[in-house]
Amino acid sequence: MKNFKLSNGITHIPLELPWTSPGFVNVYLIEDSDGYIMIDCGVNGEKYFSLLKNYLKEENIELNEIKLLIGTHMHSDHIGLSDSLRNEGIPFALYKNSVDFLNEYNDWSLRFKDLFIYSKKEGAPKSFLSDIQSITTPTYAGKVKKPDVLLDEGKIKNINRDLSVIFTPGHDQSEISIHDSKSKVIFSGDHILPRITPFIPTIDSESNLLNDFIISLEKIENIEHETIAPGHGKIINEPHKRIRQMILHHQRRSEKIVELLGNKKLTGWEITNLLFPRKLDALNLRLAFQETLAHLKYLENKKVLKHNIEKYNSWEVIKKA
Ligand SMILES: [Zn+2]
Repeated sequence: MKNFKLSNGITHIPLELPWTSPGFVNVYLIEDSDGYIMIDCGVNGEKYFSLLKNYLKEENIELNEIKLLIGTHMHSDHIGLSDSLRNEGIPFALYKNSVDFLNEYNDWSLRFKDLFIYSKKEGAPKSFLSDIQSITTPTYAGKVKKPDVLLDEGKIKNINRDLSVIFTPGHDQSEISIHDSKSKVIFSGDHILPRITPFIPTIDSESNLLNDFIISLEKIENIEHETIAPGHGKIINEPHKRIRQMILHHQRRSEKIVELLGNKKLTGWEITNLLFPRKLDALNLRLAFQETLAHLKYLENKKVLKHNIEKYNSWEVIKKA
């Protein structure tokens, strides 16, 4: 992937990932009066650190000129390498609620503990449950320690450039977007992507991240900006159109679920199989299930669906009088 040219002192580095889709993560360097602010850094590993250092050299940027690394969210492709950069003396910043999720980031058996319990209730078969139980923390996630800086919404302190944090949970509970007033660019992490809609997870029976996600999209719509620089893929030059498309995508999927349910009572697992009839590998099956559950929770909250808590939970459409 080629790097795209951005004006106003912004450098883009597409950094390789250990998988093919997406094959790259976008790293950005924003010039300030006395150094650079870096957004996201890729996965952990000597190979990826060397690649990053080479790309920085090509851009004539020294590691010691980077005065802050900001992670948009707590996924390994965005912050896996953070500890290596901290060892070079670069302070690391995440949104303030990230401290609540550090243990889950570093230990994937904790990360999927609640999902295991919830999946069982939603009718998932033994094979699926044992797949969840066998997930271990991959080395590309690295170890992430408590950040040096915990960001809050609004202008980022102790830097000269006017960068502000917008809290945009949905794809991840601690996801932020960064608005640069000089260039009118929003760095969106994985909250807004050009081609695919980001995966919206279900973590436990309480979370309603699809609702958070839609609210976060509307939040970005209301901020004046011209361009979105996403965490993967190309620059988005028609951001409002893209946001509308993403909202529509989720609306259609919700409508599809209501249609599939009809007069039936089905478990989350059964609905997933109707919604995704193609055979999926273990990872994609888990993602499909988690996202279906996110929709079910969203529709329950909107009083479109009813959740019957039984031995195996079932869902049904609420009949309108
Ligand atoms: Zn990502």
